[in-house]
Amino acid sequence: MSRYDYDYGWKPYVPVAERRRQAARKIARLAKKGQTVSPVVIDGRKIAKTFWGKSWCDNLERYSDYANRLPRGRTYVRNGSVVDLQLSPGTVTALVSGSSLYRVEVKVAAVSKPHWNAVCADCAGAIDSVIELLQGRFSQAVMTRLCQEKTGLFPQPAEIEFKCTCPDWASMCKHVAAVLYGIGARLDERPELVFALRNVDQQDLIASAGKGMAKKRKGAAAAKVLDNSDLSDIFGIDIAESPAKPSPRRRKGAK
Ligand SMILES: [Zn+2]
Repeated sequence: MSRYDYDYGWKPYVPVAERRRQAARKIARLAKKGQTVSPVVIDGRKIAKTFWGKSWCDNLERYSDYANRLPRGRTYVRNGSVVDLQLSPGTVTALVSGSSLYRVEVKVAAVSKPHWNAVCADCAGAIDSVIELLQGRFSQAVMTRLCQEKTGLFPQPAEIEFKCTCPDWASMCKHVAAVLYGIGARLDERPELVFALRNVDQQDLIASAGKGMAKKRKGAAAAKVLDNSDLSDIFGIDIAESPAKPSPRRRKGAK
């Protein structure tokens, strides 16, 4: 499933509008300079379809600070106005085609260490692999934990800063709103970017990675955790013999 084309970039499908021509020219200039342009292309009515994309969008929509502002961004992101969106640790930069071409920057605060440790401890043992994690294949309890307001993985308004080169960005212009939704759409394609954006390592959530994390688990989200007898059955090794340190064989085998 490819909703935008990494090789050819954004295809201006409505070349009649001047703003689109302008955007296309800008993209061509960027491409000439060797920059890879990543437009947000929405296929169908839903902006996001996967656990990651939807959770990002749902998270934004639950905050009353944003309630009046976000809807203006939906049309914008759906009609292809976000002509470039780049995600890097802590920062999203985007170009949005409006009456002019605007540059939007969104900064998202890193998850603090204690906050992340708490998330990992609550999910310890419940997610078996990065693939399962990125595909959103985990228990309802893990989903609920990751999506918790304020204490989950998704940022609250106080952790999001934004600016735009248009005149009225301060109270969230439609360009910023479109970019916030665009991030959700991008997470459908590249869910791992949410971890980069928040400066945490997704490996910390994997069952085999948390050094002793399982001991701290609170149980709620750890429905899938294997006990030692299960591990013995699966890997044919005697876990009980080495309780003091995490077995390298076990970590390797569980990957
Ligand atoms: Zn703006």
